[in-house]
Amino acid sequence: MNDDHENSKRRHVLKNILAAGAGALIVGPGSDITDDPKPKKGSTEKVKVLTTEGKVIEIDKPGSDCKISPCAPARGEEARKGIPGRSFVMVIDLAKCKNARKCIEGCQRGHNLTPDQEWLNVFLMKDHDEAEPYWFPRQCFHCGNPPCVKVCPVGATYKRQDNIVLIDVNRCIGCKFCVVACPYSARIFNWEKPPESDLSPDDYSPETSVPAQVGTIGKCDFCPDRSREGKLPYCVDGCPMGAMYFGDKNEDAVSNGTETLRFKKLIKDRVGYRYLEELGTEPNVYYLPPVERMFDYKSGLKDVPDDKKQMYEDIIEGNNSKRKITRE
Ligand code: SF4
Repeated sequence: MNDDHENSKRRHVLKNILAAGAGALIVGPGSDITDDPKPKKGSTEKVKVLTTEGKVIEIDKPGSDCKISPCAPARGEEARKGIPGRSFVMVIDLAKCKNARKCIEGCQRGHNLTPDQEWLNVFLMKDHDEAEPYWFPRQCFHCGNPPCVKVCPVGATYKRQDNIVLIDVNRCIGCKFCVVACPYSARIFNWEKPPESDLSPDDYSPETSVPAQVGTIGKCDFCPDRSREGKLPYCVDGCPMGAMYFGDKNEDAVSNGTETLRFKKLIKDRVGYRYLEELGTEPNVYYLPPVERMFDYKSGLKDVPDDKKQMYEDIIEGNNSKRKITRE
């Protein structure tokens, strides 16, 4: 099967589950979404905040009609509200993951990240000292009760009605409170400029997260721009093992691009769980335990760069004290 045919098949499957009633999701002519990111004149409520340089600046109040500089509109309020009627969710089948790292590469390409910026990591895990290790992809869980959102002093990170937690880097002051608050280490600080690209600041939307800005925070965004087009997130699309599924809880359907499954039944039948859900964060990423694994974990070590291999040493050498999974 050639790539075009495969891509077309994937798009068709996705449109069935993500874009049921495609007109509600696809942004097209007649949409009221604002594409003009330039500041406009108008009135809005202001709040004062302290920057990392110790300056007090005035910005628009989060959630208000953001139209005056220095607030850069995040393509209108629609980017803050999210896609109506959707409740996005991800499911990762740990039995299928072999650390191919294609999810990471797809994410990095799609979001114009440097090779050391990983919004998605693949860890090596063990449930107990005698158990066989398994690969464990982990990114932002788009928590239903996100501690990162609560601590942001400027409303730069926010929870949308479609379950997605986003960051507006035009509002972010780089204070890193959210980095500390996230119990899953899902956020990274942008120390370096993003790689050269054709993107200009005017291209920016919180839904694409590009181009990034130095001194702000980045993380997995669940690729909502792609959902609007009926496409899977870059990581799901890139996984050659079909280990990652994405979909809509309201539709009760998730897809890895080649098969579409009932979300509730999948979680029930495979005893799906959420990572450290006892923290009360209500993650929207579910894991299927690695029973009947399709690969020996060692096959996932072959193409890993040496600096990454160090991450796995404690598990490979049998020192399991640093990484444990807690399940209900
Ligand atoms: Fe926030 Fe971390 Fe939860 Fe993502 S995983 S929503 S960054 S607390």
